Amino acid sequence: MGSYWGTSHTTAMTITTTASAASAADRVIDRAIAGLHATNPAAAARLEHDLACEGREMTVTRKGEVLTFVSNLSDAEAVAALAGMRSSFAQSLYRSRGRLSAKQLAWAHYLASESQTRQSASQDPAAAPQFEALFAAFQAARDKGAKRLTLRFAGVNVKPNRAGDALWITSQSETEEGRYGLQPKYLGKVTPNGMDPRLGDDIKAVLMEASQDPLTAAIRYGKESGECSCCGRELTDPRSIERGIGPVCATKFGW
Ligand SMILES: [Zn+2]
Repeated sequence: MGSYWGTSHTTAMTITTTASAASAADRVIDRAIAGLHATNPAAAARLEHDLACEGREMTVTRKGEVLTFVSNLSDAEAVAALAGMRSSFAQSLYRSRGRLSAKQLAWAHYLASESQTRQSASQDPAAAPQFEALFAAFQAARDKGAKRLTLRFAGVNVKPNRAGDALWITSQSETEEGRYGLQPKYLGKVTPNGMDPRLGDDIKAVLMEASQDPLTAAIRYGKESGECSCCGRELTDPRSIERGIGPVCATKFGW
């Protein structure tokens, strides 16, 4: 291995092997395909297509039992899917992303593939709404040390609970008496896979749209209301008004 990569790559290879054996293997495959392109482009294209479509066979060991499965996801997709999962195991894997062992990465693929299967089994997409993108945006901000996280969309505030497994929805126009006086009225919650039935249809529509593409929804809110979706402050800088979001806030949410 060392001679193949050359001595200058030895250190880098050692690190990648421990961090992620699967992605190191991917890079070897990429190099092989690049070589094949030079001599037989048609064969290289077929190989690329097969690799992209067939998925990877992987195994995880659960309570001594070896489970073999095929993942159609890239490592990045598998890890991203963890963000929206409730289990503490999935959450701990997500927090360790970037330094997962090959075994942990296989578990990420397993959990993500299982969740993908469950989703496609559901006939009606409206019956199993997905909010991964919203949860991932809050997780990104939390990872950067941000506190008091709230995103504002048309008429509602969206705020994650402490555990990060639910989003509390409050009203921007209605208030209720709370422990410390008047506070925004609580309307219901969103979990990674569902919305509180108490939420009105108009609010559900706003949340579904925001979950499809949180950044676009945040920008629209900024342009319509004149305030930043992330911090609620009035947009005063001409560039921020133009963009519909404050630059510091956008960075904080990983946008
Ligand atoms: Zn802001």
